[in-house]
Amino acid sequence: MIAKEPISAPSWAEPESFSSLLDKARQFAGEYIDSLGQRPVFPTEAALQAINSLNEPLPEASCDPAFVLKQLHEIGSRGAVNQTAGRYFGFVNGGMLPVGLAARWLGDAWDQNTAHYVMSPIDSRLEEICERWIVSLLRLPDETAAGFVSGTTIANFSGLCAGRNELLRRRGWDISRKGLYGAPKIRVVAGAEAHAAVHKSISMLGLGSENVELVPVDDQGRMRADRVPKLHEAALVVTQAGNVNSGAIDPIGKICEHAHASGSWVHVDGAFGLWARVLPSMRKTCEGIEMADSWSLDAHKTLNVPYDSGIILCRHREALMSAFKASASYFQWSEHRDSMNFRPSMSARARVIELWAVLKTLGRQGVRLLIEQLCENARSFARLLSEQGFEIHNDVVFNQVLASCDDDALTRATLQNIQSSGECWCGGSTWHGRAVIRISVCDWATTQKQIERSVRAFVKARAMAAGRRSKK
Ligand SMILES: *Cc1c(COP(=O)(O)O)cnc(C)c1O
Repeated sequence: MIAKEPISAPSWAEPESFSSLLDKARQFAGEYIDSLGQRPVFPTEAALQAINSLNEPLPEASCDPAFVLKQLHEIGSRGAVNQTAGRYFGFVNGGMLPVGLAARWLGDAWDQNTAHYVMSPIDSRLEEICERWIVSLLRLPDETAAGFVSGTTIANFSGLCAGRNELLRRRGWDISRKGLYGAPKIRVVAGAEAHAAVHKSISMLGLGSENVELVPVDDQGRMRADRVPKLHEAALVVTQAGNVNSGAIDPIGKICEHAHASGSWVHVDGAFGLWARVLPSMRKTCEGIEMADSWSLDAHKTLNVPYDSGIILCRHREALMSAFKASASYFQWSEHRDSMNFRPSMSARARVIELWAVLKTLGRQGVRLLIEQLCENARSFARLLSEQGFEIHNDVVFNQVLASCDDDALTRATLQNIQSSGECWCGGSTWHGRAVIRISVCDWATTQKQIERSVRAFVKARAMAAGRRSKK
């Protein structure tokens, strides 16, 4: 016999618990944020082990959402990488401005789908506003269109897709109908130091990563304009603003002059470095970037907007929109901006809300100050490390610093000690054949004190590594 249970509303569907759940989330988030200063930058071994307790078969029965949230806080908050407290320098991650998180929370309560204007007029209008603001901040051509995507990987994909399609269209080939089968071949040219995301996009676009003609770079990883091959026909040329190791910016203006003579399409992967366009001190370095055809960048890195927030900018509005056109009888177009026309995805959350809130709060001056501060902190980090006998391998032109100890083995052992210290966190890389510790300063919350504390952690980590070696 099957016992009959009384039918009642499950606890997860009680409307009255909605606001108390949000209060709980607010409380837990507050506890997390208040404890950032005491938390190790990378979770402890015990905190990582605790995550195992979440690994269970899918529960058959429902349970109380308040319990779920509590469990998430107890295990998740301890297991989270502490990357917003000013001492995380790994990869190129970016911190999070408080207003960005707050605006995101509000927007999350709206739960907008942003495919069509009629699904979210507020998103559509904010996208139009942010498009104008970003174009003005970066001093790009007025006609430039923006699409708001999950990050620079998808922004690169979108820009290169628009470029590929447009170059083929000009040769009389409609790729959206005919595909790449039998299409005229398009040459793809990129710097030898192009980011992995660029090669990924090229392969996703069916252009073949093997077909990329790599242009030699200088000692800072900048594409050499004088080594860009002769282009007899229009090609896809991929440049970079912000080398992921050194932070250096390609001579994009010069490359555009050369490439545009053949009608080529120039894309700029500017994930974090395109923001250098707002700095008066970098005017010369960034000269001519406005001549390119498409640009991609992240708001979640240098601008400290919460994840995930990438932007594709394209001078040729029609080319961008036609790359993503789709039709169905149930679609509802409007005379306003239908956001799905500017990006690969249809449904997507309204990520422009927090971008708008950050830009509105900072204003032009605030954006400049934020980025100047990141660069100043990077220079200070490099200076202090150098005083402590670390070798600095790059010209610190933006927010990236490459440091090493006397030899590769010591550098690697030191890096390991830094990563497990909990004091700060950096990644590693190789640069001109040498092992380096890669420092990316991209959190607004980083202070001079935290840099000094991190440098002390470096010194201690090196002493430990050297001590262990001499014992062997
Ligand atoms: C981070 C980065 C990317 C990839 O961007 P995501 O936002 O992680 O998708 C591409 N290019 C460069 C130069 C980057 O720094």
